[in-house]
Amino acid sequence: NGYLAAINEHAHLNIYVEVFAEEAMQLAKKQDEARAQGARLGKLAGVVLSIKDVICYDGHAVSAGSKILDGFVSPYTATALQRLLDEDVIVIGRTNCDEFAMGSGNENSFYGPTRNAADVTRVPGGSSGGAAVSVQAGTCLVAMGSSTGGSVRQPASFCGIYGFKPTYGRISRHGLIAYGSSFDQIGYLAHNPDDIALVLELSAGADMYDATAPNKLLPTYSKQDVDTQPQSIAYFADLMESEAIAPEIRTAMKQTVKRFEAAGHTLVPVKFSYFDYVVPAYYVLTTAEASSNLSRFDGMRYGHRSAEAHDLNETYTRSRTEGFGTEVQRRILLGTFVLSSGYYDAYYGKAQKVRRLIRDQLQGILDAHDFILMPVTPSVAWPIGEQTDDPVANYLADIYTVLANLAGLPAVAIPVETDSALPVGYQLMADQWEEGKLLSFIRGL
Ligand code: GLN
Repeated sequence: NGYLAAINEHAHLNIYVEVFAEEAMQLAKKQDEARAQGARLGKLAGVVLSIKDVICYDGHAVSAGSKILDGFVSPYTATALQRLLDEDVIVIGRTNCDEFAMGSGNENSFYGPTRNAADVTRVPGGSSGGAAVSVQAGTCLVAMGSSTGGSVRQPASFCGIYGFKPTYGRISRHGLIAYGSSFDQIGYLAHNPDDIALVLELSAGADMYDATAPNKLLPTYSKQDVDTQPQSIAYFADLMESEAIAPEIRTAMKQTVKRFEAAGHTLVPVKFSYFDYVVPAYYVLTTAEASSNLSRFDGMRYGHRSAEAHDLNETYTRSRTEGFGTEVQRRILLGTFVLSSGYYDAYYGKAQKVRRLIRDQLQGILDAHDFILMPVTPSVAWPIGEQTDDPVANYLADIYTVLANLAGLPAVAIPVETDSALPVGYQLMADQWEEGKLLSFIRGL
């Protein structure tokens, strides 16, 4: 009830594409009655969750923030969401996002921009912008988002909350609308790491519908001891002095290094040689995968079909022209180009090799240290509309988040207290499958 009141109070922020008010109220009432009768409820009874508009939920609309999925109702539920529903979670609605999760400011949504509750003239980050504000504005306890290149950590950092992206494959992608399949992961946003640990352990693990979610031992993250042992933490010292990073972020990083040192951890400056290649490799590979993944939206099978078309080819072309927004069209064209036969080796093939180099160098650092500390973003949240005409500026701002997705590593954005009027965060990255170690550490901070 309080959450629904918060949704009404913050309607101007454009957080939700759809609120499941009636359904959520009824479920909460049913749980109350069952509890009163002494029934045993699931571990998430009473916990209110928002889902990003890329997560399929049986019988509910899902649009990926796009006109092309207008009117589409999902016939099944994403595995991760189903596992939370089995524990009696209450889903309050689907949150606004960049179209097909392509963007960093939530400005590419068919439903218009979401606003940052810390300053309504600024973006909340993206693409899980609605998800971040849904937690920031107190309209739910935890938000389920997705990350292809930073969509959970970056908006969390812009909104002053925690954002967690697990190892690639830790959570099944079944029922998550695909963007770049070798990058995509479901992730969570919340006010504290304990809540993240709980929903992670309940939704993760092998799934017969996703061959990339292997049968790895799944720790009970929420029950693990908080870890206050001294850790070896690598950080990129060059970034501390870089003019390309906003002063408040550099200050926050330096404070964090000092704070960790004071707590007895060993902070080790390290170098990373490939920062110049991180964003190009990411955008070559993800647009390539997206051009293939989005080919299924053809006007025949799902959502929007052009009323102007007279034959099959025209139906494809017109439906896609009318249904996809500018940024999605740009990326489909880019992706098709880098995969085309004359250019494949020069772009896609090369980017695959760069991805391997990036992964190997990060692995080398994580073989020698427990965590890597780095910024989440080069700047704080920018004014709405400021970057809409400059896609490359937008892409470059993803430099510190795409690393974890390129390498498939778990990473978390942690809010930090500063003098800045706008929220600032920092990032910690851990080795593959080590989200337990990462969560135990940040729960002790
Ligand atoms: N901003 C990045 C992009 O536009 C990341 C988005 C995401 O993680 N979904 O691709």
